[in-house]
Amino acid sequence: MPARTEARPGKIYLDMPVTYLKGVGPARAEALRRLGVVTARDLLFHIPHRYEDASTINPISSLEPGMDGTIIGRVISKGIIPTRRGLRIFQAVLKDDTGMIEASWPGQPFLDRTIEKGDMMLLTGPVRFYHGRQLQPREYIHLGKDDEGVKGGKVLAVYPATEGLSFKVIRGIIDAHLDTLLPLLKEYLPDDALRLAGVPPLGEAMRMVHRPQSIAEGAEGRSRLAFEELLFVHILHRRANALVREKRHGIAFENKRELTTALKQALPFTLTNAQTTALREIVADMASDRKMHRLLQGDVGSGKTIVALFAALLAMENGYQAAIMAPTELLAEQHARTLTGLLEPLGIEPILVTGSLKSAARKGAAKKLASNAPLLAIGTHALIQEGAVFGRLGFVTIDEQHRFGVEHRARMSAKGDSPDVLLMSATPIPRSLALTFYGDLDVSTLDERPAGRQPVTTVMRPEKARERVLEFVARETEKGRQAYVVYPVIEESEKTDLKAATTMYELLSAGPFAGRVVALIHGRVPADEREKIMRAFRDGKIDILVSTTVIEVGIDVANATVMLIEHPERFGLSQLHQLRGRVGRGAEASYCILLGDVGDEAAERLRIFVDTDDGFEIARADLRLRGMGNLFGQEQSGEATFRIADPVADEALNMKARAAAEILLEGDPDLAMRDNAGIRKELSSRYARALELFRVG
Ligand code: ADP
Ligand code: MG
Repeated sequence: MPARTEARPGKIYLDMPVTYLKGVGPARAEALRRLGVVTARDLLFHIPHRYEDASTINPISSLEPGMDGTIIGRVISKGIIPTRRGLRIFQAVLKDDTGMIEASWPGQPFLDRTIEKGDMMLLTGPVRFYHGRQLQPREYIHLGKDDEGVKGGKVLAVYPATEGLSFKVIRGIIDAHLDTLLPLLKEYLPDDALRLAGVPPLGEAMRMVHRPQSIAEGAEGRSRLAFEELLFVHILHRRANALVREKRHGIAFENKRELTTALKQALPFTLTNAQTTALREIVADMASDRKMHRLLQGDVGSGKTIVALFAALLAMENGYQAAIMAPTELLAEQHARTLTGLLEPLGIEPILVTGSLKSAARKGAAKKLASNAPLLAIGTHALIQEGAVFGRLGFVTIDEQHRFGVEHRARMSAKGDSPDVLLMSATPIPRSLALTFYGDLDVSTLDERPAGRQPVTTVMRPEKARERVLEFVARETEKGRQAYVVYPVIEESEKTDLKAATTMYELLSAGPFAGRVVALIHGRVPADEREKIMRAFRDGKIDILVSTTVIEVGIDVANATVMLIEHPERFGLSQLHQLRGRVGRGAEASYCILLGDVGDEAAERLRIFVDTDDGFEIARADLRLRGMGNLFGQEQSGEATFRIADPVADEALNMKARAAAEILLEGDPDLAMRDNAGIRKELSSRYARALELFRVG
């Protein structure tokens, strides 16, 4: 066991930068920062991602080749053995009461400097046969010279590590400071919540995850920390929803079938069964005096916008105003354009509200919104800014809702007198997860695509087909079509050999796509510039758009027929599916091409994407294979992410967290009670949005 740092009482506190801790110099502090560890508290929250079970000690005599063994023994001899191929092996012979065994560390001759004759050591690893039994330690621990109190085994924590900072060093640092730091941790969760979840209190849980007696104990400690994360997210959602629902009643709209029927007759197509069903659910919500809070989820192209439009018209025929909020100006403009076309026969003209409106237009729009006249406003965040005042807002739709935070929802909803709210999402998730991510809401699902849509031909092509693939793309664009070429990163780096958007843009526009109009966008291009490029692409002024995943989800360019994705193994399946959704929107045959050599495992995963066009199936596979964090890819800016909890694997815990959040907020909706001061403080320090949601007054 490494020597314990002497605690200097009064010197150590949780918010202290890790550099002040003994054993952490500037270089280690920098490496720790890369792991998200800045303060002593962060260090505690840097929890092991797995454990090495060395808790059961095997007598040396019992070890057999082929088994995994853990021994405690004394080093009786040691040395470095050169091999013919130049590899140097450190070897030691260890002895316990039952016998002796050779341990061997290939390629680690430096251990000769730290492991001494006479040392007591704990080793764990596979046993093999090599001129006799030999143990190859995966892990070793020094136990000192005398064998007092070193009879028992250990469970060894393995930590997420980074370049220049091994998990062993991290383990040493945490172990050295654990006893000093643990007493400083104050419990902030209510006893009731802990009891309900059946998880240990904070200090105990931290001890358990970092220094467990058994694997099960490590898991128990982790469950507390996972519970806490889930609980916090449920608290935030419940609070946001409470604000949304604050006014007791919703509006009871009457289904007059005036504007809605007129739209139905004017539509150039008939609604799918799924659209009709979803609409019936929405109308029922709106007709009741309960406030609607519903999620409409459906694959790209499943026709969510029309459904929202019908709901908006229902509000309008009741004399109310309706609003559709989209995450970007481009999407808002796109909605405005399509809806203007659809509403023309009805004599209704939607009002566009974005940040870049000229001041005269903005004033005109503001005046209309502030009036009591029924209207349809389509816009961006501009709709929820302080200045935007609605005279009679009765219905709100939030498109691509995962790109907004919970506080945006609350704010949009606060713009009206208790408007009904419809959230829309193109990434379908199971109901239990929807509850975690959006709080309590009802869910409608469009699981059917409008008829007559052309499927997108999806293929995987190896590196050696690169030239042919690029020629194909060039040919398509010569025919007047447009193409996207997507890369996982913006710039090349020394750490990976990934092709990057910027470099490939240079290469492609000089070589294979010379003569075509090629443009580049990525996350570091300023937002207004990005919109300008996207607009030019939409208007057909750009043939090929080289980009990262920033290309708009939801952007509709019917003339784009090719989606070429490099390093497809770097993307989540749902993300790939979103990208594929950018093509196949017009009458022409469309293609999605995954280019590059990928490993067997990745190929198997990508096969699911190639073989199915069903967004639900893809989302499920994504959840199964990669967990929650990757489902929304980089788009998941609005919602909380989990570091420790996994809402899929921790479903039971998740349901308990939901119940605990409910009980907590029922007793103290503002978390204003003294007993809850700790949890309120903890929430605010972790989630910026908590500040807004729990702002008093
Ligand atoms: P998303 O669900 O991805 O938001 P949209 O609402 O943008 O999908 O719809 C995609 C396209 O499908 C739009 O051009 C829309 O007009 C069209 N569409 C919607 N419903 C139908 C339908 N029932 N039949 C045919 N086309 C439809
Ligand atoms: Mg849409």
